[in-house]
Amino acid sequence: MIAAAARLSAVRETMAHAETIARRAAGSVQLIAVSKTHDAEAIRPLIAAGQTLFGENRVQEAQGKWPALREAHPGIGLHLVGQLQSNKADEAVALFDAIHSVDRPSLVSALGRAMDKAGKRPDCFVQVNIGGEAQKGGCPIAELPALLAEARAVDLPVVGLMCVPPLDVEPAPYFALLDKMARDHGLDGRSMGMSGDYETAIMLGATHIRVGTALFGGRA
Ligand SMILES: *Cc1c(COP(=O)(O)O)cnc(C)c1O
Repeated sequence: MIAAAARLSAVRETMAHAETIARRAAGSVQLIAVSKTHDAEAIRPLIAAGQTLFGENRVQEAQGKWPALREAHPGIGLHLVGQLQSNKADEAVALFDAIHSVDRPSLVSALGRAMDKAGKRPDCFVQVNIGGEAQKGGCPIAELPALLAEARAVDLPVVGLMCVPPLDVEPAPYFALLDKMARDHGLDGRSMGMSGDYETAIMLGATHIRVGTALFGGRA
């Protein structure tokens, strides 16, 4: 499929341009291709075009399609970008190389136990409810220091912060705030920016952007 390769190179060009004008090193931003709702047929052309890092938002859906794809294409990284229930912690630790949605004490404990049991410690991003939205996942801003302390106490490898800003408003202030919070806590990773706003996120320090629609087209 030419469409997938063309979309990938367009996104990569936009990323490179944003890195340049933000005076960031070329290649300093990781592109996570969010393949939720898309099947293996849609994913393979992106792998063929050279994409090696993918994201999913549901454990069960990822278990259905990724084991076979990864066996056929060794070297692929898989990140969980969606909310995680504590009772799925073991499965998430087994399947994913990074978890972007660590957002509450009960999940921190469950992941700590799951990682001890599995002897595998995927990178963790703590998700912050950056817009203070009642319906959204993420740790309230005021509770972040305590949650980070709890995560360190059970040896979660916390590499950064993640956010999803409120819809339909300018995201830049939220990205800038997440960047500041990460810096204040000595964390290098900033998982922020989606199809509609990843350029802005890169200008404001994103290290990982999570892009679905711009690579795969719309979701059903
Ligand atoms: C679906 C999803 C994305 C990708 O969104 P697009 O707008 O399709 O790029 C990024 N992050 C999270 C947490 C998602 O659930």
